[in-house]
Amino acid sequence: NQDWQGKHVTVAGLGVSGIPAAKVLHGLGAVVTVVNDGDDERSRTQAAELEAQGIAVRLGDGATLPESTELIVTAPGWQPDKPLFTAAAEAGVPVWGDVELAWRLRGPGAAPWLAVTGTNGKTTTVRMLASILRAAGLRTAAVGNIGVSLLDAVLGDEEYDVLAVELSSYQLHWAPSLRAHSAAVLNLAPDHLDWHGSMAAYVADKGRVYEGNRVACVYNAADPATEDLVREADVEEGCRAIGFTLNTPGPSQLGVVDGILVDRAFVANRQKQAQELAEVKDIDPPAPHNVANALAAAALARAFGVEPAAVRDGLRSFRPDPHRIEHVANVDGVAYVDDSKATNTHAAEASLASYDPIVWIAGGLAKGATFDELVTGAAGRLRGVVLIGRDRELIREALTRHAPEVPVVDLDRTDTGAMSEAVREAARLARPGDTVLMAPACASMDMFVNYNKRGEAFADAVRALAAESA
Ligand code: ADP
Repeated sequence: NQDWQGKHVTVAGLGVSGIPAAKVLHGLGAVVTVVNDGDDERSRTQAAELEAQGIAVRLGDGATLPESTELIVTAPGWQPDKPLFTAAAEAGVPVWGDVELAWRLRGPGAAPWLAVTGTNGKTTTVRMLASILRAAGLRTAAVGNIGVSLLDAVLGDEEYDVLAVELSSYQLHWAPSLRAHSAAVLNLAPDHLDWHGSMAAYVADKGRVYEGNRVACVYNAADPATEDLVREADVEEGCRAIGFTLNTPGPSQLGVVDGILVDRAFVANRQKQAQELAEVKDIDPPAPHNVANALAAAALARAFGVEPAAVRDGLRSFRPDPHRIEHVANVDGVAYVDDSKATNTHAAEASLASYDPIVWIAGGLAKGATFDELVTGAAGRLRGVVLIGRDRELIREALTRHAPEVPVVDLDRTDTGAMSEAVREAARLARPGDTVLMAPACASMDMFVNYNKRGEAFADAVRALAAESA
């Protein structure tokens, strides 16, 4: 790794991606400077640890480009319009994200990547995919937001045959040279628009996942924008566009026929019309959006050459993560469901469509979203709504416009304890047979460390309620 000796690299951001990146680059012989906006106690402790290893850190100044910078490696969350990047562009300094860094550092003969992006369902799909690949006897890992980090997967001692990689729009934005074996875009709905600046920019960043694909670009037949991205992508010769659909599949698609997941795209025996893969009831939960995730995972696995039996076994042994439409308890005939992972309107739409009648707990950080469509779609099924969090006003306005008859309790609270009051209020609104659904359609960081903590707070409050009622 001679290339890195003495190279001046600026790492933007102390954090889950910045700290490991700084250490790895320093280990390769680069001259590393970490710049960080914050200058709080936590960053000072982290800075001290890095400085002890010989890595320079500038706290409280993430805007100035250190002189002699030859490359910036940025945390994916850093917004492209930051002054640091404007300065980099003017100086002709390239900017890589954590994914780009991992991609460039992977060794010769490294495991190919099967990549998954989309507004919702990424984590679920990547974990389903890893489960299928494992069932096929392949050495693999689900890499991304959960499980193994990309740098660890690429540089660690563990050997892999193939990686199932979750990629966010931010990560794709900063990963110009990534070339996956195959990739899927699950769906496209407005999210993170404050970061990307516009829906067009967001979609374009998602589309990067298809660039240079070798075998298959997997798109959602129900979401034409994903197919458009395939058409616009510059791929290797012979790379195929493969669709997935909840209906009867066309040629080059995977789909569902009479409760069975079938593959018409990768049919080995030419006499055969379709290859049966698994049953809808093998999927946990068998909700439509999750069947779509399973089909996308199956398509990527099939593109990699996995046999149908392994697709079935992998889907059967897959269990969903917590906080994704998770049933917590029944109290007085009312079901309490935790969908804390519904951090945007598109995700909340999937769970709101799954229950009727609903007492909906919503609110948090809206990230530039609007709620008219979501509220219009759910209005007929809402028994009542309890609002929490910073941007709850936006949801209340949408409710006033499109569901004026639905009772709304506006808690006007953003403290952690608000969840327990929200659950009590929801219990008051609910009648036996109803579902209290915490699917906030917003990010959690105004009130909680993350969506996990928000989900736990909800579950704790529900259990307290159950204990009182018993
Ligand atoms: P991501 O990693 O993209 O955030 P997750 O698999 O963690 O996706 O699911 C996020 C949320 O989106 C969950 O609340 C889940 O209920 C919902 N969801 C999952 N798959 C889909 C899908 N295909 N379409 C719409 N919503 C989905």
